[in-house]
Amino acid sequence: MITINENYLKLQDSYLFSTIAKKVAKFQEEHPDKQIIKLGIGDVTLPIPETCGDAIKKATDEMLQKETFRGYGPEQGYDFLREKIAKYDYETLGINIDKNEIFVSDGAKCDTGNIGEIFGNDNIIAITDPVYPVYLDTNVMAGRTGEYNKQNNQYENVVYLATNSENNFIPELPKKRVDMIYLCFPNNPTGTVLTKSELAKWVKYAKENKAIILFDGAYEAFITEEGIPHSIYEIEGAKEVAIEFRSFSKTAGFTGVRCAYTVVPKELKAYTSGGKEVSLNSLWNRRQCTKFNGVPYITQRAAEAIYSEKGQKQIKDNIRYYQENAKIIREGLEKEGYTVFGGKNAPYIWLKVPKKYTSWEFFDYLLETVNIVGTPGTGFGPSGEGYFRLTAFGSRENTIEAMERIRNMKK
Ligand code: PLP
Repeated sequence: MITINENYLKLQDSYLFSTIAKKVAKFQEEHPDKQIIKLGIGDVTLPIPETCGDAIKKATDEMLQKETFRGYGPEQGYDFLREKIAKYDYETLGINIDKNEIFVSDGAKCDTGNIGEIFGNDNIIAITDPVYPVYLDTNVMAGRTGEYNKQNNQYENVVYLATNSENNFIPELPKKRVDMIYLCFPNNPTGTVLTKSELAKWVKYAKENKAIILFDGAYEAFITEEGIPHSIYEIEGAKEVAIEFRSFSKTAGFTGVRCAYTVVPKELKAYTSGGKEVSLNSLWNRRQCTKFNGVPYITQRAAEAIYSEKGQKQIKDNIRYYQENAKIIREGLEKEGYTVFGGKNAPYIWLKVPKKYTSWEFFDYLLETVNIVGTPGTGFGPSGEGYFRLTAFGSRENTIEAMERIRNMKK
């Protein structure tokens, strides 16, 4: 008899965005004349930079010629891209990352989800709450959590680090010892950031407790304020305790192109149950070589093009466009009396919903009255209740129109 991985049965039914999609589809079907503005899902809307498109065309031409065709590439990524990442994403910050510490992949979603494979199942995980759901669900699938408790909306055996307006969205160090700590800054969904000194506390904790930090920097490119770390490796000693995930998805509009990378420093060690040190760089390399056959050559050439002078200008122009949208949303909401977080160093605006609504009620209210789609905070974890996420990834016209509708909305 074939059996299943029963951990999957612990997963909570509906994935947040499919519930939203169903509600929106139903509303549109019942009201075909309404123009819905979607500021819910964190997908980009601007096309990829022209330089990347040119690189794709050139690489496609190479693939069509016998002399320049490429088959399987290195599982870890081509050197031409890994060297550019080391030089432009890290050397510029004064951080020395060797190209062999960089693993190019087809997405930070896969990497943050797959990384758990190299860690023991007895490790205790800590996640911030609310959280990007991938960290939690992949640990449920792996069996690192207990059952879901409907009373408190939490999985057993997981340490939830509440981040909310009461603690200024700065997670407190766990009271109970944890082994795997997922941190995402700038944060999805709250759009908030940690300063260097706040992040340094986590590095210290990880060192003292022989824990690891899984640091997701997918929104690094959106940081505008001084003193906010762009990489966890800006913190002294972080290379001994942290893996960093980066993605070209939001940095360069690559959500459909698919390219990201993960940094696993050589200094980074974890332990066997007997206490023997093992290099995580070697383990991840082994995992990738066994299960992954590399990112397409064409895609990696597109990613490389981002680091040219023209590429840098084009991605910065696109990011500025979204940052301006974020400002329009933030200021528009504040003017209407909403309490708003994020949106300064991230494409996400996290607002407090008016007291009389739950997050989902506010979702329904916005959809039905002003035909705007956002994301209920509770979908990201129990501490997200009472909050709501809007994204800056819409078009300028839609963003302005959405704020206009909210201005005229009865609260
Ligand atoms: N990490 C965070 C925090 C995200 O919000 C997202 C996408 O929304 C990802 C990772 C996924 O990135 P990718 O497109 O590289 O898979």
